[in-house]
Amino acid sequence: MAIAPHPTPVPTRAAAVTASGRPGSPLGADRVRLTGGLLHDWQRRNRTVTVPHVVREVRGAGNLDNFRRLADPEVGDYRGRYPFLDTDVYKTLEGLAYELAREPEDAGEADAQAVARDFYEESVALIERAQRPDGYLGTFYQSPQSPKKPWQDLSWGHEMYNLGHLAQAAVAASRQLGDRRLLDVAARFADLVVERYGPEGEPAYCGHPEVEMALVELARETGDRRYLEQARLFVERRGAGTLEHTIFAADYFQDAVPLRELGSVTGHAVRMVYLAAGATDVALETGDAALVAHLERLWDDMVARKSYLTGGIGSRHSDEAFGDRFELPGERAYAETCAAIGTLQWGWRLFLATGRADVLDHLERVLHNAFAVGLSEDGAAFFYDNPLQRRPDHEQRSGAEKDGELLRRAWFGCPCCPPNVVRWMSELQDHLAVADDDSLTLALYASAAVSSPAIDVDVETDLPWHGRVAVHVRRATDDPATLVLRVPAWADGAAAAVDGVAVPERPTDGWLRLTRAWRPGQTVTLDLPMPVRAVTAHPHLDAARGTAAVLRGPLVYCVEQQDSPAPVDDLLLAAEDVPGLVADDDHPWHVLRGALAVAPPAGDDPYPPLGAPAAPATDRAHVALVPYALWGNREAGAMRVFLRLS
Ligand SMILES: [Zn+2]
Repeated sequence: MAIAPHPTPVPTRAAAVTASGRPGSPLGADRVRLTGGLLHDWQRRNRTVTVPHVVREVRGAGNLDNFRRLADPEVGDYRGRYPFLDTDVYKTLEGLAYELAREPEDAGEADAQAVARDFYEESVALIERAQRPDGYLGTFYQSPQSPKKPWQDLSWGHEMYNLGHLAQAAVAASRQLGDRRLLDVAARFADLVVERYGPEGEPAYCGHPEVEMALVELARETGDRRYLEQARLFVERRGAGTLEHTIFAADYFQDAVPLRELGSVTGHAVRMVYLAAGATDVALETGDAALVAHLERLWDDMVARKSYLTGGIGSRHSDEAFGDRFELPGERAYAETCAAIGTLQWGWRLFLATGRADVLDHLERVLHNAFAVGLSEDGAAFFYDNPLQRRPDHEQRSGAEKDGELLRRAWFGCPCCPPNVVRWMSELQDHLAVADDDSLTLALYASAAVSSPAIDVDVETDLPWHGRVAVHVRRATDDPATLVLRVPAWADGAAAAVDGVAVPERPTDGWLRLTRAWRPGQTVTLDLPMPVRAVTAHPHLDAARGTAAVLRGPLVYCVEQQDSPAPVDDLLLAAEDVPGLVADDDHPWHVLRGALAVAPPAGDDPYPPLGAPAAPATDRAHVALVPYALWGNREAGAMRVFLRLS
């Protein structure tokens, strides 16, 4: 039995975003439980491996000691280089709130939960004790060794970024466990921020957006509208150019122009998508249709011109930033794991605001590729940046093969990604379904037991490996209810049936709406064809010109050197070879097997004359293509998503 510490109110287990949007309200852990399949496996791995690993690393890195030492100077100096290391604790706590509220499925999960509970209790006590009487909380600036005073450096201080992650952890603890201790701490800190930077205060904002979406959630959980107004102010003020910038230009901070005038996503990618997520949250609560429309334009532009095939964002390593439109080099993709999570956060809110199925199609792409690749198959190592190509001599920031280390690393000096993965894995169920009084919308597919006001269903699917989704009606009312099923754009020729009889309805705008007087025992099947397919790149996407990549359903594939007898750089992808790539369902990764032509370079001349004949194919090689999310789990070697066209 999961113990909810100090359960003053009853936990609602409500979803991470408790907005009511156009398609309905998200169903939380009280209404959606993963029951099998890939996402269930991910969540179980998170619970049993990633959480204990991250807890151990956070302890070892000194993040908790930074809280402890404020009361006990014997503990030593502030540890770590950055002023935002408290957030690693907060993000972990956010995930733990969910995990402590879940029933363990076996003894292994119960053991892991005990580790999580110790960390949770110790952390909450330390956080409560570290808060200053005026509400301020940030162990870096509270440290006597701090080179600056609180609020002296809004550009780089991350103080409200810290508050944002604290508030998100606090809201999760309140909803999942009924534990309001962190909520009280977060509210006191937020009150201080409202006093300093509220309607009557200094018109300033934090260099790293994040607090905006957190304040909206804090308003939802506490009912205090001042926090929503504060979030709105932060969104509206940004772009005044008041953040001091010495290293990077103002657009790094999204501070060159107001968000409403921004023509395209820009600057530091994580900052940008966190800001956009917060702005979408504000618009959801204030009903600001113009802001939603603008955010849709920014989203569409990002998806079409600034996203990798994997859904990853950010192509510039120097400032972890978006590049220009179509500046998307595969081997230099930054595509930070946190930026994928920020995209999931923004996209989910945008879906709630608009009901757009294509936004979810993109989220599905991000989830199964740009996000999933950030974690090793065993659950205890992480990529920070996620390139689409690795040359034999490639240096990957998070994966340099030092001292025989594997490709992914156990931890980082700036460990923003690992605890971010923990919390998102814990919250997967919150982002699958929405409902209102007479409809249930299945937004993303996973095997799950789902309850909603109008209808309860059990969803069964083996996606992303196979394209069948079965929805078994478990409970229905006497009134007609609408089951709304997303038909992904990749599923050309999708077909649906109720109890084996094809339905007359056709999908509109990516949604299949089935309104019936449902009866328990009925089964809706949705067959989503997922043949192997290949795509090329837009002519302006120079880095991928003359290449093509292989996909199946939502999955992007790649070739790792160990699965090809010829150098991966010499493999050619021809349209006629694509149908010959067949999924091997006996392999745990369902790799695609087939034969591709091999064409080594004709010579060493780096710049042969225009018109010189291309090197002919000399051979054919039997290769395996692995899901991109799973690359780098064996020996290190070259890897390519985009293969040369024949
Ligand atoms: Zn990160």
